[in-house]
Amino acid sequence: MIRSQNGMFGDFGGRFVPEILLPALTELEQMFAQLREDADFWQEYVTLTRQFSGRPTPLTPCHRLSDHIGGARIWLKREDLNHSGAHKVNNVLGQGLLVKRLGKKRVIAETGAGQHGLATAIMAARLGLEATIYMGADDIERQYSNVFWMRQLGANVVPVSTGARTLKEAMDEALRDWAASCETTHYVLGTACGPAPFPELVTYFQSVIGIELQDQIQEAIGRLPDAIVACVGGGSNAMGAFSPFLDHHDVTLVGVEAGGRGMGDGDHSIRLKPDTAETGIAQGFKTLFLQNEDGQLGHTHSIAAGLDYVGVSPIIAHLSQSGRLTADSANDEEVLEAFKLLMKFEGIIPALESSHALAGGFRKAATMNNDQHLVINLSGRGDKDIFNVARAFPQPEWTAFLQRELERHTQEPSAQQEPSAEQEPSVQKSDTAHKENRHA
Ligand SMILES: *Cc1c(COP(=O)(O)O)cnc(C)c1O
Repeated sequence: MIRSQNGMFGDFGGRFVPEILLPALTELEQMFAQLREDADFWQEYVTLTRQFSGRPTPLTPCHRLSDHIGGARIWLKREDLNHSGAHKVNNVLGQGLLVKRLGKKRVIAETGAGQHGLATAIMAARLGLEATIYMGADDIERQYSNVFWMRQLGANVVPVSTGARTLKEAMDEALRDWAASCETTHYVLGTACGPAPFPELVTYFQSVIGIELQDQIQEAIGRLPDAIVACVGGGSNAMGAFSPFLDHHDVTLVGVEAGGRGMGDGDHSIRLKPDTAETGIAQGFKTLFLQNEDGQLGHTHSIAAGLDYVGVSPIIAHLSQSGRLTADSANDEEVLEAFKLLMKFEGIIPALESSHALAGGFRKAATMNNDQHLVINLSGRGDKDIFNVARAFPQPEWTAFLQRELERHTQEPSAQQEPSAEQEPSVQKSDTAHKENRHA
């Protein structure tokens, strides 16, 4: 398992935060250092994921798809079958156990696709914690169904309307809240980014994916796979799948980023190729960030809301620069094609994020021999993407259905209206100390 050197991975990582956050990060780091040596804690975590989230997730061979593509035999690690529909629940359940040990009662989180917010709301309900979720206003529009469920689960969802109104702004806002509340509040970071110890901590919990995968593929084929492919947003599902294999140099590791609609500024989210991103310090850590000429954080695009993050895990940045990880990308069109293929040949509806890994994986498999084995980490399921997918593959019947559904909604108002559906609060309603800032 990968270990940082004082929070650094080669050139990347570290902890660049306001002084006020240092005690909370130090406390977390010390707790983590202690717990990662504690086999009982790992067992407690694994038991929780089994009892609550359906782990271990299966490793599924794709016979029809492999025959169709030719080349390597393709396997899927089925993180889509987790409770809540993606790998993110692994990380939040682990951090939930940490919160209990830290004796804190409130959690905050930032979320892009809404998946991490949903997972955090689920964890908070299960473990009896109060939850506030920051989410970019554009992301809320794209993924309202996740927001709907977060609110039903009792979480306070705060829209962030600054900047590009996506994950990066939500993350700034969450850090601001934490600076004011860290004595009572834990910040549940959603991916392998942010100030140390988060990249390592999130990787530690997500490594349950790779640990299971190693056992399952050994049992199935009697050896390790030739390649493992994962999509890279912040980098947590990729690090989870890759981390037990880092020292097995025969296993090729491929990270697939969002190629979006082209290579223009703001059209993609590719941080690992030469000439796209540069090393910088933002959001509490040092990594490759997409930046404009003035060194401001750049804009991103992906058909998958979970992949349009402007930075990347410092661990992934390091593995990429050191050559251990191969960076690839898939554009929106290739992603939709891969999405369709998986549905048609295997009966599985993948998340659009995961479809990036599929696109990269299919491309890689086609260059390999049919006695080789390639595993794709299927990070999530596609239910949440129904509106985006419906736009990409238009069906008039679907639009008519939505219209009828809207009419039903407005004609028969239910006794219990969802409280904030009509009027998004632009400031947080609860009690944090920086209300004023948000009005400014
Ligand atoms: C959030 C998300 C991702 C991207 O996040 P990582 O931290 O890079 O794993 C990928 N797939 C799904 C389904 C997601 O919800």
